[in-house]
Amino acid sequence: MIDRFNIAADILKLDAPIRQKLQRPEKQIVVNFSIVLDNGIEQNFEGYRIIHNTALGPSKGGIRYDTEVNLEEVKALAAWMTWKSAVTGIPFGGAKGGIICDPKAHSKRELEKITRAYTKSLSDIFGPEKDVPAPDMGTGPDEMGWLMDEFSQVHGKTVHGVVTGKHLHAGGSLGRVEATGKGVSIITLLAIEQLKLRPARSSVAVQGFGNVGIHSALFLYEKGLKVVAVSDVSEALYNPEGINIPELILYYNLNNKSIKGYPNSVTIQHEELLLLEVDVLIPAAKEDVITRTNAASVRAKIIVEGANGPVSSDADTILHANNVLVVPDILANAGGVTVSYFEWLQNTLIEKWGVNRVNRQLENILEKSFKSVFKTATKYNVTPRIASYILALQKVAETQSVKEVAL
Ligand code: GLU
Repeated sequence: MIDRFNIAADILKLDAPIRQKLQRPEKQIVVNFSIVLDNGIEQNFEGYRIIHNTALGPSKGGIRYDTEVNLEEVKALAAWMTWKSAVTGIPFGGAKGGIICDPKAHSKRELEKITRAYTKSLSDIFGPEKDVPAPDMGTGPDEMGWLMDEFSQVHGKTVHGVVTGKHLHAGGSLGRVEATGKGVSIITLLAIEQLKLRPARSSVAVQGFGNVGIHSALFLYEKGLKVVAVSDVSEALYNPEGINIPELILYYNLNNKSIKGYPNSVTIQHEELLLLEVDVLIPAAKEDVITRTNAASVRAKIIVEGANGPVSSDADTILHANNVLVVPDILANAGGVTVSYFEWLQNTLIEKWGVNRVNRQLENILEKSFKSVFKTATKYNVTPRIASYILALQKVAETQSVKEVAL
């Protein structure tokens, strides 16, 4: 299987040493620590932080709490962060972290202990000019606040810029919580325009009802699109007339963060949601949900990757042959890291930006990135995925080789 990286690297004629360098993480850290649970029993945890590349700036990327976290997954996610920052032109490299744990099975107190212990073990790795974590699956503003506090305690001073995605009062940015979903919705509207479809008539299916899925569905609903299907781990809902997303969010919040049992829709199989005849499919849950086994049955016109890596490399080929426009993750969900950059800037400059400024600048960056990806796709006659890799690799490889010469 020739992967996306190598297709783009071939087009750019990158030589073997630089390819190797860009494919391997700069640093891989595995940490083991223990905490005392609420019941008095001590439990061990394994965590990771992978610094993929720092050619363009401090490494940046989220921390995932999930039972399935593993080194290979975190390595792949870290590399995607490098390409994501590069495509959008924000001055960061790429990293990712994770802890093997089930965040839903722990109390808030235990989650705080886990986050603080993880941070302590990585306190010489993190830093506003070194490596800047953020939320990912299973983490949010609480975890980021604990991380900042622990890091600040270890270093004996308040360091707001060590992490993004914090609560507002802890130095967070307006618009950061919704940023990834907002970005997905901005990119979806641009893709709809690209195919000359009409937003008001377009139907959407969203897989995943976490932070990304919720906000993608909400912003598209507010723009008048018909969100006909959504799912979370418990259930997949379908209503061909469109689901009232604000109402569903209320239901979800009152129903212990689950969409199970929402009345104004029918239940379908999870797999069915991916194969619905809709204009836009937004996989916003996990990696590898569209693979060679189901790609040929996808009937959506556009796939916007809200999650990281939801479409596998071999599925790309099948979807392209079937004329499905795939807007790649490193562009489609870059809204999160873009507003993380704004948060980091505000922390560095000791500023507070209004939400309109945040959203306007987010829109500018994503529109510009979308246009350059599609221009590059036309120039090289490749898919938007390969085009975004070309753009990203070009920037990182150039800077990397300049660094080599300078040494
Ligand atoms: N975890 C998010 C992502 O995958 C955000 C990363 C960040 O803000 O640094 O893009």
